[in-house]
Amino acid sequence: MRSIAKFYPQKGKDTVEEIVKKVQKSNLDGLTVTYEANGEAHYHSRHLPYSGFSLKELKKSLNKKHLELGLGAPFFFSDGVWENSPAKRAKIGFNDWPTTNWYRPLCPVYPGLFEDRLTLLLEAVEEIEPDFVGLDFFRFPLFWEELDEEMKLITCDCPDCPAKGGRTEVIYQYAIKVKEALASLPVMIHLVPFLEENTIKVTGQDPKLLANALDSLSPMLYSNLLKREDTYIYTTLEKLAVYKIWPSLEITKREINLLRSYDKVLYFYLG
Ligand SMILES: [Zn+2]
Repeated sequence: MRSIAKFYPQKGKDTVEEIVKKVQKSNLDGLTVTYEANGEAHYHSRHLPYSGFSLKELKKSLNKKHLELGLGAPFFFSDGVWENSPAKRAKIGFNDWPTTNWYRPLCPVYPGLFEDRLTLLLEAVEEIEPDFVGLDFFRFPLFWEELDEEMKLITCDCPDCPAKGGRTEVIYQYAIKVKEALASLPVMIHLVPFLEENTIKVTGQDPKLLANALDSLSPMLYSNLLKREDTYIYTTLEKLAVYKIWPSLEITKREINLLRSYDKVLYFYLG
């Protein structure tokens, strides 16, 4: 089992060498980092300004120590697109998505948006040459991190968004296209960790279809954030046991015994 942690580079903080040392010291096998943050790219892009942090250098330094770099693709989420193209924001009725928190979802069916986001991902992959790709926010919007027991599912309901029954097919077809474009790389998708039928219809993330299209599923089993017991982790993994899974857990859960050997476990996150 390989333990991989999410990491968010910060300008002027750790150097590549310091980051690699931190990974070794933490007994991790690698990192997963998103190529885009705050409207900037961690590589030289034709589409976005450069952040000043080179994921290409980080990847080379990690590989020298037999550590890996996963590339996180924040698909229908972008501070930059949100700021620069208000029409692409998810809508509630005819109003913009409220901005009371960090969540800045985009409408997955806004014309041309999927293609633009895929172009950016492919450019990043070509430049950085990661060991695997992780699709994040690859769904219709749902701020699942803040759902309470009522489970009121709020999502984009702009006139172009398909009815709840048609969403899984849209996300499935997008997943097929991404995998076609990245044939030689393992491609994982982060899943909203609620597997009830209503949630699947809202997000469009059907585990069965996505397991068919992609290499692995990574349910985000953040039990502390969700104020649930560890049993929540086990019961959800049990429901997904027929698929290839790389569980996503909070980094404080590194000690829990999963009783099953997964290729990778992804941890949120290395500070
Ligand atoms: Zn929409």
